[in-house]
Amino acid sequence: MKAIRVHQFGEPEVMQLEDVADVRPSAHQIVVRVHAAGVNPVDTYIRSGMYGQRPLPYTPGSDAAGIVESRGEGVTKNIKMGDRVYISGTASGAYAELALCEESQVHPLPEHVSFAQGASVGVPYATAYRALFHRAQAQAGETVLVHGATGGVGLAAVQIARGAGLIVIGTGGTEAGRNTVKEQGAQHVLDHRAPDYLQRIAEITKGEGVNVILEMLANMNLGNDLTLLSRKGRVVVIGSRGRVEIDPRDAMGRDANVLGMSLFNADEDELSSIHHAIVAGLENETLRPVINREMPLADAQHAHRAVLEAGAHGKIVLIP
Ligand code: NAP
Repeated sequence: MKAIRVHQFGEPEVMQLEDVADVRPSAHQIVVRVHAAGVNPVDTYIRSGMYGQRPLPYTPGSDAAGIVESRGEGVTKNIKMGDRVYISGTASGAYAELALCEESQVHPLPEHVSFAQGASVGVPYATAYRALFHRAQAQAGETVLVHGATGGVGLAAVQIARGAGLIVIGTGGTEAGRNTVKEQGAQHVLDHRAPDYLQRIAEITKGEGVNVILEMLANMNLGNDLTLLSRKGRVVVIGSRGRVEIDPRDAMGRDANVLGMSLFNADEDELSSIHHAIVAGLENETLRPVINREMPLADAQHAHRAVLEAGAHGKIVLIP
């Protein structure tokens, strides 16, 4: 099979398309023929060597969608050969023609959801769901600021929060991105590069503050976030690319909570619950992954540059 391989950590050029042996399932494993693989920022951090160093060589990627090619002995999940599925995690890497998965990593993909959309589910939707409900314990009727709503996690959060009855304020850095955030259900959409947008958030909440903030760039925003929260408000740090200075008094005065989160910390039970909710949302069409660009698998280097550029509006996927 063809797969993107990384033999040393470094710039995107370390990723090369190669021929490797086909993967085969052991007990409780499933092999999926990949029709689309999702590109996440974390894939670039791992490739560069700055995060979660893994044994070399390896194939990047954790998210994909495709068709079940083969099943090992003892698979108990109700997933058959030929089924359409999305995967959230793989033992062999998603940037490839075939992906080897534990059965717990394979989930049904409804007929009306495209493979590109299925490849956009794993990390973004699981992260958004866990941040909203497992960490912030968001409730219907509360207000959530999705600070960075135009990307994979942000758009997932907008759809999940709207579907759960929250009032959604989403921010984006470009007009195209903001239009998508609006289309996906945010009641209020603001430009996180505009000088007055923090003031606008205070006006929208009539000075009460927002109950929950999902923060995609904490190194830029955490200090301001603490001033935007309501009493007992919660900010979930999802993304951060550097250090930040805060005034702890902004949290003290509000009994506010700063909650870190990493999807990698979710245990099997939490992941199972998350994916039951996601599959239901895909089925009833409250969750509709938004695709920005489809690129050939051979363009993985280009995709890794593009996913870190400003001006997100949805997901980048690779097509083997
Ligand atoms: P993405 O698709 O590249 O989106 C990045 C988002 O950040 C865009 O919405 C972008 O908006 C926004 N952004 C840029 N400048 C901003 C600013 N000044 N204030 C607020 N937002 C700003 O990435 P993603 O997949 O959604 O992931 C978002 C972040 O979360 C990444 O840093 C990623 O590594 C991290 N993440 C963490 C976890 C975890 O488990 N903790 C899981 C998944 C992702 P514009 O482009 O419109 O400006």
